[in-house]
Amino acid sequence: MPRQRRAIAPALDDPVRIVPLHAPREVFAPAPGIAAPPSPQLTYRGGPLLGAVQVFTVFWGAAWNDAPQLSTAQSLNRFLQVVVASPYVDQLAEYGTDRQAIGRGRYVGTATVPDSLGTNVTDSAIRHMLQQQLTNGSGVPAPTPDTLYFVFLPPGVSVVAGGDRSCQAFCGYHDHIEAQLFYAVVPYPNCAGCLGELGTLDALTSVCSHELAEAITDPIPPQGWYDDDHGEIGDICAWQNKQLGSYAVQLLWSNRANGCM
Ligand SMILES: [Zn+2]
Repeated sequence: MPRQRRAIAPALDDPVRIVPLHAPREVFAPAPGIAAPPSPQLTYRGGPLLGAVQVFTVFWGAAWNDAPQLSTAQSLNRFLQVVVASPYVDQLAEYGTDRQAIGRGRYVGTATVPDSLGTNVTDSAIRHMLQQQLTNGSGVPAPTPDTLYFVFLPPGVSVVAGGDRSCQAFCGYHDHIEAQLFYAVVPYPNCAGCLGELGTLDALTSVCSHELAEAITDPIPPQGWYDDDHGEIGDICAWQNKQLGSYAVQLLWSNRANGCM
């Protein structure tokens, strides 16, 4: 997240990358007399990349078994199946390195964990849940170097991570556990700031695409592709969307094109 945005949407203390709340563009423009930050340029910091991402979805909370969340979950799975093997991922090829090319990935499955949740969960509870699922043989596959777990939260449940709460400071984030387990967290868009003037499913797919691209290009923030002023590939273009077939996806920064595309 760019530094000038912190007044409205404070960055997490650690370099976890987030989707900020949606706000009019003028809000982020420098005040008169304040220099604009340098134009974006992602640089590679030597860390791992997800060269052929394998996406597994985890729907946490019993509410995912109720309509209409059940159909939202099915739509999200279909979206992820499409997007990981689409031109959306092809456009990340420019960020391949000599050691690690970036190409199409695949969707490898889904699980619902029907716990009853309160109105709030913490990032550490999400980490604990994931690790429990991995050790109790519940069908969540063990991580490969390319695995990305997407954790979705049901309506009315917010997440606190790095001292900030979803719908107050962010709409989604990705992070890692040690150097081998990569995950993204996408809470249900419970507020206007995380709907971004979109319908619920479009807001969810936009946030998912942002986190997907960032997890592929910077799975251990900020050891992959990063810009010290602007953040990760999705942060630079936050809430600018385009269509991928029938799905809303977020634009991504292209060094090559010097713009969001
Ligand atoms: Zn981001």
